[in-house]
Amino acid sequence: MRNTVKIVGIEIDKLDFLEAQEKVAGFLEGDSLNMIFTPNSEILLDAVKDRELENILNDAQLVIPDGIGVVIASKFYGTPLKERVTGVDLATKILELGAQKNCKLFLLGASQESVTLAAEKIQEEFKGINIVGIRNGYYLEDEEEQIIDEISESGAEILFVGLGAPRQEKLIYKYKDKLGVKIALGFGGGIDTLSGTVKRAPEFYQKAGLEWLYRLIKQPSRFKRVLKLPKFVLLAMVDAATSKY
Ligand code: UDP
Repeated sequence: MRNTVKIVGIEIDKLDFLEAQEKVAGFLEGDSLNMIFTPNSEILLDAVKDRELENILNDAQLVIPDGIGVVIASKFYGTPLKERVTGVDLATKILELGAQKNCKLFLLGASQESVTLAAEKIQEEFKGINIVGIRNGYYLEDEEEQIIDEISESGAEILFVGLGAPRQEKLIYKYKDKLGVKIALGFGGGIDTLSGTVKRAPEFYQKAGLEWLYRLIKQPSRFKRVLKLPKFVLLAMVDAATSKY
């Protein structure tokens, strides 16, 4: 049974990082597919307007709060989330656990340069991981089926998809019965972070819950996207207040 808090209609797992780690270790022991999604404020706000995305998120085996806005919002519902758990941190843990079991990994998403670099870094740092395929995220729609065949024929047990939301969630969901993996993780720009193409915020920003501010300073073009954070927090406040009555 999952222990979740429902935020603007989406079930988010109430787990700290260590508990999330135990959960993914269990996923690697089993045989079935486990979809892991990593929504932030922006994605949850989109899910309010996109019924398909809402249903997909609610059908996942693990949904972690990859954004401080989600943690803040959970407080309005009276059952606060313990901490922010990011997709990239969980991905790193999956690689560590997967390396011990010589797991097969497939990476899908980001530019060719970024995904190649990410594969090289993973191979260097997590020696036990067996990378069975990489594919950049800039492909034509009619290439999609062939990419899915490639993944399933590769025998991958772990699939990381970094195509941005909601594309990655919809892709994983659409092909959930074909992928043949144990873990399918959708993690936005995660491949860029693993490759080092996009730098993670210094620890100060991360600990203060200000990673969004750091990204805004680095990429001012994200201004409109960052505005979704307060909008989402307000929406959650209203939703929590009205759902109590
Ligand atoms: N991306 C991709 N194919 C596309 C568009 C985007 O693979 O057609 C990748 C992009 O290179 C980046 C990721 O998707 O690595 C999206 O990153 P972003 O920081 O926008 O993710 P989010 O903020 O949703 O976590």
